[in-house]
Order: sequence, then C-alpha cells, then structure tokens
Amino acid sequence: MKYCSRCLYPENAKPTIIIDEEDGICSGCKYHESRMKLEINWEEREKILENILSEAKKMAQERGNYYDCIIPVSGGKDSHFQVYILKERYGMNPLLVTFNHIYNSEAGLRNLENLIEKSGCDLIRFTANPHSARKISRFMLETVGDLTWHYHAGIMTVPFRIAVEKNIPLIVWGEHGFAELTGIVSLEDFVEFTKWKRREHDMRGFEPHDVVKKSDGKIAMKDLYPYIYPTDEEIERVEVRGIYLSNFFYWDAKKHAESMIEKWDFSPVSYKRDRTFNLYAKIEDHANDVHDYLKFLKFGYGRATDDASMEIRHGRMTREEGIEMVKRYDPVEPSSLQTYLDFLGITKDEFYRIIDPMRDENIWEKVSGEWRMKDNISNYLQTDVTENARVKQVDDRTFSEKNRNLYYNDRNPPLEKGDERMDVKKSTFKML
Ligand SMILES: [Zn+2]
Repeated sequence: MKYCSRCLYPENAKPTIIIDEEDGICSGCKYHESRMKLEINWEEREKILENILSEAKKMAQERGNYYDCIIPVSGGKDSHFQVYILKERYGMNPLLVTFNHIYNSEAGLRNLENLIEKSGCDLIRFTANPHSARKISRFMLETVGDLTWHYHAGIMTVPFRIAVEKNIPLIVWGEHGFAELTGIVSLEDFVEFTKWKRREHDMRGFEPHDVVKKSDGKIAMKDLYPYIYPTDEEIERVEVRGIYLSNFFYWDAKKHAESMIEKWDFSPVSYKRDRTFNLYAKIEDHANDVHDYLKFLKFGYGRATDDASMEIRHGRMTREEGIEMVKRYDPVEPSSLQTYLDFLGITKDEFYRIIDPMRDENIWEKVSGEWRMKDNISNYLQTDVTENARVKQVDDRTFSEKNRNLYYNDRNPPLEKGDERMDVKKSTFKML
C-alpha cells in the first residue's frame, strides 16, 4: 500500500485520493497547502459572499418572508460557527433545520440546545421514524457496509424540502468536506451544492427509488419519504441554491471550535473517546464510532488517521506522533457496537460476516482464519521522501497544556465539565 509521505492517508482512502508520483504527497495535503497560499484573496471572496447574502435578503423581503436563509445544523462546532457568522456578522435571519437521524449522543443534544439558546434562532427538527431508520440502516449495512446512509440523505434533502415549502432561496452549508479531505475539487472551482454530489458522494449513488428496487420490497417508498429530493420545477420556482461557507473563509476547524467555546459556550467532551483523541469534532453523532470502525474494517484506516492527518497538515503534530495515534485508536472495536447490533437485530458474528467480503484485498488478508493487515503506516515511519515532505511545525502543539480540553492526552487528561452529558461516555444513543 502506498501512504502519503506527509500525512497518514493510504492510497485506498475514500473518497478518491491521489498520491503524487514524485514527492509522494497526497491530493488532500496539496489542497490544504493551496488554501494556505496567499494567492487566494479571502477579502475578495468575502465580498462575493456578501453579495449572495444581500441578494437573499432582498428576495426574502420581496416575498414577505422573515427568514432569508436556511442553515442545516446538527449542534456541532461547525453549526455553531455557521449560525454565528451569518447572524452576528451579516445580520441574516436564518431558519435552522435539523435532520434528526435518531442516533444522537447526549453531548450533541446539549450542544444543539445550547445553539438554539445562544443564537436566538428558530429551529425545525425533522425526526426520522425509528422503524424505517432501522430497516434502512440494516439494508445499507448489508449492501455497502454503512449504517448512516439515512443521515446523509436526510441532511442533504430535508433542508431543500423545507426551502421549497417555505419559499426560502438560500441554504448555507459549512465545509465542503469532500474537497478538504482528499482535495479532488480545487478551491478555484467555487463548488456549490449539486445533485451529483448529493447522490454520488453523500448518498453512495442511491436515490430512494434505487433503495426500494434493490431491497426487493423490504423497504417501501413510505420509509423513504423524507429522502425524496424536490423536483427540478420546485427548485427553480423557489430559486434555491446551496453554498458552502468554506469557499469564503479560511476553514480551520480547531480555530472555529475555540472561538465557539469562547463566544457561545460550545462544549467539547471530556471523556476518552474510543476511536479518536479529538474531543470536539463529530461528538454529536453517536453512531460515528461504529460508522468509522466500518471504514477501518473495509479500508484499514479510521478516524484517528483523519484527525491526525489534519493535525499534521496544520503543523501541530509530527507525522511520528500521528502514527502513534493511528496505532492506538484505528483498530479499536467501539463500545457502542453492541447497542447498534441489538437495534438492528443482528449478532456480532453476523456483523463480521457481512463485512468480510467488503474488506479491501489490497490491505487485508486472511491468515489461518484471522484478518491481518498486509501493510500499515508504521512501516513508513521515516524515509527520504517523508523528510522532504515534512510540514513546518508551529508552536501550537496538539497535546500542549493550552489544548488540554480539545485533545485527549492520557498524561494530562481534560478537566471535567461538571455535566454528565459531556463527562461520561455512553454506549446507548438517544432518539430525541
Ligand atoms: Zn497527505
């Protein structure tokens, strides 16, 4: 397996990553570097955003609509940042929309409540019915090895349906994660929301009617009602467009989390997480540990690879420190796995049997009945190429005292918040 000489991604990372033949650096690292370059005129970009927002305000006025945009929110750090910027800096009147996929953590519910309270915005929360969510999760687990299809389908569909229903022309997303992770679209492209990205990236190529067909009727159209995208005519009539804030601001998840902790009391968790040292990202998504473990079982890498690679690209962590994190966290079976298996009605043996044929043979092999990785990042600790690819280190170290509450460090664990929702890891999820 080829690994990036700068970060920790293997070349089988999803979505597609390309590793440069010459310097061994991956497309995600190159994208990150291009964002740091001075050629990007962020002031000019903010002007473009201002124009889009004032256009939306004007349209809302003409339509006699109080809300001028929709912000899809989960209660995470990015939701806090998006709402803060739009409301406080640009004076927008956003309607917040949450797609409740039912796999909520208590920490996430605390932060969603906090967001509503601090922002003073109205919220519509659409809750998926658990019977259908269970059926869809199980079908998708068996088909593509993912139990969160309905998340992405819901998050990418429900805000559009509400936009059409309420005649609101603008939806503002946070980060165009597709680009940031692996760099296959450049910042110059100014990507907006497209139906293609929704279907191919967020929904794994499945529209609701594909699910009905492929499930042999086990899942009916009524189970998929929330995931049906509005028609082209409806979108055109309301003139809805979806934009990504990360096209207009330098996107630094850590800075955003820090500023939202300070300004609006967003809270990281203080307990040790099963699959990453990061205490502030994706803490609202209780199923993320299982979702991420599936990624490891299929492709041989997980969330610690993602999070450590981000730290490395920012120069806050060395590649060597990152490799330690990958070794420690990526192979861990999450403590919440049994909860989801019980909910879906399958045994652990069945679970592993479902996943076995989905394991990437470029990385996994079965040796006397046990799955083993053929290669791993520890085999590429230091080479000539990694020396040349090294990022200039910054003073802001991931595991410094200053970052004690943002990243879990055994030697200096975070301070407790005095709130059980943030201090105690729970293996069960909350539907509401
Ligand atoms: Zn890389």
